[in-house]
Amino acid sequence: MSLPPDGEAAPTGDLGWGAVAPVGLYLHIPFCVSHCPYCDFVVVAGREARGPANRIASFVRALEQELDLRADALDRHWGPPGTAARPLLDTVYLGGGTPSLLPTNSIARLLALVRSRFGVADGAEVTLEVNPGADERGDAGAIRAAGVTRLSIGAQSLDPKELRTLGRRHSPDDVAETVRAARASGLASVSLDLLYDIPGATLESWAATLDTALALVPDHLSLYALTLDDPDAEGITGPGGDHLPVSAGARRWRDQARRGQDDDRAAAMYELADRRLAAAGFAWYEISNWARPGHRSRHNLAYWEGRAWEAAGPGAHAFDGRTRRWNAARLDGYIAALTPSDGSAPRLPPGLQEPVTASGREAESAILALRTSMGLPPSALDRPALGPTLTWALEAGLLEPTRDDRLVLTLAGRLLSNEVFVRLV
Ligand code: SF4
Repeated sequence: MSLPPDGEAAPTGDLGWGAVAPVGLYLHIPFCVSHCPYCDFVVVAGREARGPANRIASFVRALEQELDLRADALDRHWGPPGTAARPLLDTVYLGGGTPSLLPTNSIARLLALVRSRFGVADGAEVTLEVNPGADERGDAGAIRAAGVTRLSIGAQSLDPKELRTLGRRHSPDDVAETVRAARASGLASVSLDLLYDIPGATLESWAATLDTALALVPDHLSLYALTLDDPDAEGITGPGGDHLPVSAGARRWRDQARRGQDDDRAAAMYELADRRLAAAGFAWYEISNWARPGHRSRHNLAYWEGRAWEAAGPGAHAFDGRTRRWNAARLDGYIAALTPSDGSAPRLPPGLQEPVTASGREAESAILALRTSMGLPPSALDRPALGPTLTWALEAGLLEPTRDDRLVLTLAGRLLSNEVFVRLV
């Protein structure tokens, strides 16, 4: 990690040598109506997100400035968008936070700016993350008219009690209404996010959530085990860190919630989901993701395929094929750098960057590929850095050769993927 000499976070805008131009763009929108106690995303909530003192308009001005500065850097390095050296973007992803809290005209303006400065290919996938609450989900028709093609809906559970446990504000009916409105608006693809291993959940409640989700006929499902990490202990909440400190209340909630989790139950939930989703016509294509044909997330696939992407917004990560760069998480520093109150020129926000070494890249590429149903070619067995672990995983039944000549994690391998991955780094 390259820290500037004084230990302060520094603006990061250089393109590393050997870099390639991005094919995707991630925009981080940090606002949520309230802060769920398990959430480690970069989020500001409460008065900053809603009401007379909200900071959404100041943030959008800052984000527009960052997009211009990042586009300027790409123009200088690669020339204008739409050339062999600088392809038009294939994907744009507005994640958060709750991007659907942005006024629709702000979403439309941001996407127009992205189109004019970065270039967006015909048929590009443009995803917006949405929370299902009636006062959070926005107007699906206007969202589609702004240029969004895909909604990713943060359902998390379809059990009212579990939603209360998680501190969520919406009901299962809100999820159904959000899907209905998305379909009525003609949005091309609808994804639901669900969490398993929620304290108090049972295999039966999880089966009921899956059945209710499938009855809504989504195109894509992301299923994540509830993880209760401690970003403060991991040292990633400092001035240049990409996370915000955990509040005392959230820390207490997590300590209590951990006691209600169970690894065996989590594994049984994953196996049950894999069976039910396969029976309903969904294919797994990444450890946590299943899709109907034609509905894989192209944006996330670009991450797993190690392609380059640009990013803007607090805590957002970018990768140019050679270097990882991220903006610091704090909104104050972000807005102050990009829209200085003293009339000085906008500066890129504080953040850090980290070059990826050749050996690190080999291990990381293998891990990302193994996360997916594409896996690795058998020739990976001949690579000195990979072969011993892959051979061990084959013998342990965690990896298998497929009919189309790839090495792919088995179901047991997906459940124990971290055992494989730690041996590769
Ligand atoms: S709504 Fe989503 S992003 Fe916002 S705090 Fe809850 S989990 Fe985090």
